[in-house]
Amino acid sequence: MTQPQYSRVLLKVSGEGLCAPGKTGIDGVELRKVANEIKLVVDLGVQVCVVVGGGNIVRGAVIAKDTAIEETTGHYMGMLATVINALAVQDTLESLGVPTRVQSALPVQNVCENFIRRRAIRHMEKGRVVIFAGGTGNPFVTTDTGAALRAAEVRADVLLKATKVDGVYTADPKTDPTATRIERLTYNEVIDKRLGVMDVSAIDLCQRSGIPIIVLDLKRAGNMRAVVQGEGQGTLIDAGK
Ligand code: UDP
Repeated sequence: MTQPQYSRVLLKVSGEGLCAPGKTGIDGVELRKVANEIKLVVDLGVQVCVVVGGGNIVRGAVIAKDTAIEETTGHYMGMLATVINALAVQDTLESLGVPTRVQSALPVQNVCENFIRRRAIRHMEKGRVVIFAGGTGNPFVTTDTGAALRAAEVRADVLLKATKVDGVYTADPKTDPTATRIERLTYNEVIDKRLGVMDVSAIDLCQRSGIPIIVLDLKRAGNMRAVVQGEGQGTLIDAGK
């Protein structure tokens, strides 16, 4: 079997990846798919941590729009939504025999650990998948920034950003049949062309930390494992040649 190219990876899964297409909430079938793909990478002997989003439940800016909920409160609600998702991913992974720990940036100590960097690294060294919840712990940012932050903190070799398509395209492949997948981009191209792959702050942090980003389709069975082995489909974002 092809050797993995990375020894420690961070996967960012949006809340959207945990719900049925076009729906909200959590879907057991989608959860199982995500957990299966993570297990395939764990089985390679690669250390894995996961940052989960919360957009399938609450997005702070959206919920504050038509309600009396203050935007800041909405963001804290969004962070709590990521804790809900993290627990769902945890139990699903453990049902497949993968040991896990959840660590949250917002303390919810009856259900998970608080984020402690050195402890998170230790868990991964012991073969546990660490699921990071609560984003950055601060309002007005997203879990993409949380993913870049955690990737830098735990010294991940790569940030795998799961999306609905298998990479970054020249146009929206859902609406434009001429759209083609871009194999490789630099951080600066993503920022300058405003490609919207991740928040600019997340790209900037990865650039400063020298962490490559690979945009991939997590729902294509076996693709993430293949990417970790240097063979799958996705778009690589790094400093360039
Ligand atoms: N959020 C936040 N701070 C963070 C991460 C998330 O305030 O560090 C809030 C924000 O309101 C966001 C919501 O949590 O809209 C859900 O996260 P996100 O939108 O990143 O989820 P995803 O799109 O990945 O499902």
